[in-house]
Amino acid sequence: MAGLSLSHIYKVYPNGTKAVNDLNLEIKDKEFIVFVGPSGCGKSTSLRMIAGLEEITTGELRIGDEVVNDLGPSERDTAMVFQNYSLYPHLSVFQNIAFPLKMMKVPKEEIDEKVNSTAKILGLENHLHQKPDTLSGGQRQRVALGRAIVREPKVFLLDEPLSNLDAKLRTQMRTEITKLHKRLQTTFIYVTHDQVEAMTMGDRIVVMKDGFVQQIDTPTNLYRYPVNKFVGEFIGTPPMNFYEARVKVEAEVAEITFGSNRTIKVPCSDINKLEKDYLHGKSLIMGVRPENIRIIKEKTPMSIPCKIIQKEILGSDTLFYCDLDIKSIDYENSRYGLIIKVPGLDDASAGIINIEFDFTKVHFFDSESEKCVSKRMVEKESLQVKISNSKLDFCGNIIPLPMELQNLQGEYMLVFPTDAFIIGKSFKAKVLSSESIGDKYLVRLNLLTNDLWATFPVKVSGEISLDLDFKKINFIKNGKIEKEALPEYNSLIGILEKKKRKDKNVNGLKFDVIFKIEEVELECPPEMIKRLLAISDRKIFNLPLELQFPLASIRSGNEIFGKMIKVLDYGIEQFVVIQVGDSKILLPLAQAGSMISFKIDMNKVSLIEPETGIRI
Ligand code: ADP
Repeated sequence: MAGLSLSHIYKVYPNGTKAVNDLNLEIKDKEFIVFVGPSGCGKSTSLRMIAGLEEITTGELRIGDEVVNDLGPSERDTAMVFQNYSLYPHLSVFQNIAFPLKMMKVPKEEIDEKVNSTAKILGLENHLHQKPDTLSGGQRQRVALGRAIVREPKVFLLDEPLSNLDAKLRTQMRTEITKLHKRLQTTFIYVTHDQVEAMTMGDRIVVMKDGFVQQIDTPTNLYRYPVNKFVGEFIGTPPMNFYEARVKVEAEVAEITFGSNRTIKVPCSDINKLEKDYLHGKSLIMGVRPENIRIIKEKTPMSIPCKIIQKEILGSDTLFYCDLDIKSIDYENSRYGLIIKVPGLDDASAGIINIEFDFTKVHFFDSESEKCVSKRMVEKESLQVKISNSKLDFCGNIIPLPMELQNLQGEYMLVFPTDAFIIGKSFKAKVLSSESIGDKYLVRLNLLTNDLWATFPVKVSGEISLDLDFKKINFIKNGKIEKEALPEYNSLIGILEKKKRKDKNVNGLKFDVIFKIEEVELECPPEMIKRLLAISDRKIFNLPLELQFPLASIRSGNEIFGKMIKVLDYGIEQFVVIQVGDSKILLPLAQAGSMISFKIDMNKVSLIEPETGIRI
């Protein structure tokens, strides 16, 4: 039993194919992870790198606590089941399952015990003496699973194990593998191109395309909150309907124009997660799931007509293949085709019907990047404000500005992250709704004149008192940033060096690794050294590298010295800007003390190769 950690994993094949790019994934012990995506997306390569059958180009792979990049397949304690499970035709089921144990020279009694208990788990007790050619496809696949189970690996790796089976057997084996995972209480990593398999089996799913991870999430979250058009289309059957669309907002009403010039007016609250840049006619792609469309009997102000071209009765559901262009006679080639899925049997059969979309469930994507622009987690807010006499009019609340911002005057567009709201005392807001997402709460706030999104680390309700974290706010005047938010990271350029050590027993290493900035030497912690050595085929020593360190990694100390340039006073917090070599570094004043010197917690830093931008 073990968790896995995949950190910045890349695979470049000798012919130059970049099969996997920057794969990052933490797999929990006992988790069932599914890699899914179209053919050639890099899912098998990822699995084969975990198995040790394919070398990792750069990045770090851990199984449990151990970095396994340099371990061979047999040393990794994983077992793999392939699509083409070749059983030995001349051996019985018992002998096939026992084979790996025999190779490992396990004593006979132990083999008997393990094979019998495995056969019981798989329901093969009564077939142990049969030869593979007398078994059904499903039973043969179970024997292949048995060969993996007897080895009691820490991690099961399954590469499209069901794709050779017929549809009915596939459904049955899906349930069997899910049950097996529960019984064995072991980590499973499963590769498939079939989204239904992924959705029904995975605790979490990794969706890949062209060698890049698109989204890692639970089946429900992938379905509800796809991060881009690709995931929206790939997950769910029948697939999402897509249309070019534009949204225009006036007086709390959003006018949405899409497909063959249809216009629907909806309350702004229905689309309140749509990014503000898209509220004034910017081109969008609108995605509507077939099950989020209703057929209604009477016309309503929110309804639109469409024409049924074809109907499919599935028993539990009915599918209608329609067209928003009511003159259409051809669904397949229409730009405005529409699939509707309604539960049960529906009377509608032919002709024109009226439909309504559930706009609270409609997805919006940018028409160029195809990224979702109505995300579940709202990360950014913007607001038009006025500043006069060092006071900010923030939705009708007059808030004094800190020293650092007192030279601002006039009208500004503020752009800030939703966590720029902090519990405090400057102004009051009413909590309209609250949604728990990960370790944060996304909250809809009502301020005197506006509704805005905020995120908090704790649950809030009712009326709350707030401050603004001014260091996170960008002040924009006439399209230009006049005062930029403070950066979250500092960076310094230096060189990694190996340095011989006298005491060679520490961590079993004969040398220390230091990051050298001018004359200052920062010692790399053991964890970081392990990571660096795991990618030793990459030239990282004695070349310039960028050290990125967050403000939270800065400690007081006399390691790095700099010249003070200025003090930034943000009221509740003060910072100093100091010059270190050619770089300007931001320090919290409290940490800087009277001496302008500091230390860095090397456990919290990242190293970046400046040429490629690759995080090492
Ligand atoms: P998937 O399992 O998602 O179908 P793969 O991981 O097998 O995809 O392949 C990812 C990409 O890497 C594809 O473009 C494939 O052609 C390429 N590829 C796979 N194996 C090799 C190889 N041995 N040499 C070169 N390219 C390869």
